[in-house]
Amino acid sequence: MARKAAYNRVLLKISGEALMGEADFGISPQVLQFVADELVQALACEVQVGVVIGGGNIFRGVSDSARGMDRVQADHMGMLATVINSLALQDAMEQRDVPTRVMSAISVPQAAEPYIRRRAVRHMEKNRLVIFAAGTGNPFFSTDTAAALRAKEIGAEVLLKATKVDGIYDCDPVKNPGANKLELLTYDDVLTRHLKFMDATAISLAGDNDLPVIVFDLMKPGNIRRVLMGEQLGSRVEG
Ligand code: UDP
Repeated sequence: MARKAAYNRVLLKISGEALMGEADFGISPQVLQFVADELVQALACEVQVGVVIGGGNIFRGVSDSARGMDRVQADHMGMLATVINSLALQDAMEQRDVPTRVMSAISVPQAAEPYIRRRAVRHMEKNRLVIFAAGTGNPFFSTDTAAALRAKEIGAEVLLKATKVDGIYDCDPVKNPGANKLELLTYDDVLTRHLKFMDATAISLAGDNDLPVIVFDLMKPGNIRRVLMGEQLGSRVEG
């Protein structure tokens, strides 16, 4: 008999930056195809998956408002960037015959369904992949916070943060070759040590609501599936 997955329902956060690949901006077609193939493999574990995608590969409100743009305006642009990424992933999934719905927190009815929690859960029960676009729909938040929020709303058992780094480090491993990987942390550790892999709002929301967070390398083939099957990869944050 096939081994059962470790979860019934998960929320997978894919950073916008990961979608750039080696480029400085935008969506790398190769990375998009890779992520879609990884998701197809992961969905074969019979886990219900909701996805939140970031937008940092196109626009990041906080950095662009620092260059003189109004922050709320910049955040709206950032949220629309996540809609673009979500539609790109939907296309790649549908090309692989995976029924996929994009549900947006900002109204774009011609392109995506509005986010309605009960409908999202229904889609997932019917084994459709649901992509939650436009973050929380509010400025001053991040897509990590949106991921923690949607995870709790849909009853996901875990928040999986798939990123370019293979876990949580005590300092930036790209800038510091001596950085140490931290495999198991509490929410308080993350906050008191100011670990930057996720913003404080997102980690507080996860901690206040007992949502475990696993951070792992998106770009290593088979990783999403491994995590779903319960392999200990990357780093884990829990209470
Ligand atoms: N954003 C926002 N509210 C949200 C989620 C995102 O205003 O609830 C905006 C914000 O400007 C952010 C941008 O969307 O910089 C892209 O999201 P994020 O930076 O979280 O993407 P990632 O770092 O995962 O690529």
